[in-house]
Amino acid sequence: MIVRKSPAEVERMAVAGKVVADLHEVLRESLRPGMSTADLDEIAEREVRSRGAVPSFKGYRGFPATLCVSVNHQIVHGIPSPDVVLREGDLVKIDAGAIVDGYHGDSAVTWVVGDGDVPPAVRDLVERTRAALWSGLRQARAGRRLTDISAAVESHALAHGYGVVREYVGHGIGRALHEDPQVPNYGRPGRGPKLSPGLVLAVEPMFNLGAPETRLLDDGWTVVTADGELSSHWEHTVAITPDGPWILTARSDEPAWPSVDDRLAPGGAVPHVDAPGRR
Ligand code: MG
Ligand code: MG
Repeated sequence: MIVRKSPAEVERMAVAGKVVADLHEVLRESLRPGMSTADLDEIAEREVRSRGAVPSFKGYRGFPATLCVSVNHQIVHGIPSPDVVLREGDLVKIDAGAIVDGYHGDSAVTWVVGDGDVPPAVRDLVERTRAALWSGLRQARAGRRLTDISAAVESHALAHGYGVVREYVGHGIGRALHEDPQVPNYGRPGRGPKLSPGLVLAVEPMFNLGAPETRLLDDGWTVVTADGELSSHWEHTVAITPDGPWILTARSDEPAWPSVDDRLAPGGAVPHVDAPGRR
């Protein structure tokens, strides 16, 4: 069942989204080689709670932390640990959620740890997955259909031969972290429910440098690429409004209201983001 939100509820969700956006900016500034993923999690929980919010993931089906932190061939749902120490050139995927006033925000990023000196193929994977996210977000408009988002996302993977993760997908979001509908990162356009104002979605492409297949580690959470290749994950929470897509988790260097005319070609450039943690 799809739960549409009133304009007042969307406004409240924007408050939760802003907490998540601000958190990501703090984490990006903090990120450096030698930190453990548990260090990141500690900062995150403190930041979320200091903003009067509650971590979305902690306790969700027993998940033990504020963040999911997934490194290199880990795709999603990595559990922060003092034993996982980040090194120069690692790809770290940070997924964060926060609850304010009963409403969730959910957003994920892929940063290169350190000075960003990674092979072009790795940099491209990250930037193209990010471009795919933004193409999907730009389809989040009244009158379009759900899989218009899916197809726009997938076009970037098809253009470059990346494996698109199929077992894990985007989702509706609101009072629950995961609501209907599911938002796949693949598929033909023009299908699924018609998009209309009040629908709020988490769009989250996961692209692999190799094959799409995944494997679940023995910890019951961490999802990795079956072939051990690198993976990238980006996510935003977007509300469909009469005025277009409102990116509720947009960080300060990103547009909260992407223009419809600003559509990206597959593999097209996105607003440049300096390598996080570069110093
Ligand atoms: Mg997420
Ligand atoms: Mg999500």
